[in-house]
Amino acid sequence: MALKEAGAALAAESARFAALGWMRGTSGNLSQTLSRDPLRLAVTVSGRDKGELGEQDVVVVDADGAAVADQPTPQARPSAEAGLHARIARVAGAGAVVHVHMLAPVVAAQRWPQGVVLRDLEMLKGLQRSAHDDEMTVPVVANSQDMSVLGDAFEAGFDPATPALIVARHGVYVWGRDLQQARHRTECLEWLLQFKLATEQR
Ligand SMILES: [Zn+2]
Repeated sequence: MALKEAGAALAAESARFAALGWMRGTSGNLSQTLSRDPLRLAVTVSGRDKGELGEQDVVVVDADGAAVADQPTPQARPSAEAGLHARIARVAGAGAVVHVHMLAPVVAAQRWPQGVVLRDLEMLKGLQRSAHDDEMTVPVVANSQDMSVLGDAFEAGFDPATPALIVARHGVYVWGRDLQQARHRTECLEWLLQFKLATEQR
């Protein structure tokens, strides 16, 4: 995908997430995979209001989440979290990754630190799972400022059928084949977690 097109899509999706209250302050970041070999991702810039991004407000990063030299804004700084985006794109083959500081997954991880089990709910279909006789455990990993530590924890618990990861006391990562699928999955996961929090105490 062309960088300009990716930048416009990332800005539009960021504005939608910001409107939902899931990118408060300047938190969260979205990425779109541009190429696989070598791995290149367009990631929203760090430290900006996510409701007001333009198509130019992206940084191209490599497989380690580091900004590449050959891009329109080589001086722009990617979020440190770009490293985990790149890891997820590589390991899960994701075409897009959403990272938001949404409250429900963080509260759920506090209550179920070993993983959040979801089952028997119609909304599971939104994550390409079954509404009956299927159990999805959303992994929970401890927060860290070191993206290689977070990446290793993600990879250790990775299940290709579970496109989400909760970082305790921090936020959630959700991915998909493209930005639209990643957003749909994020929206459905939020509903599932709200339901669980409202109906289960432990
Ligand atoms: Zn974050």
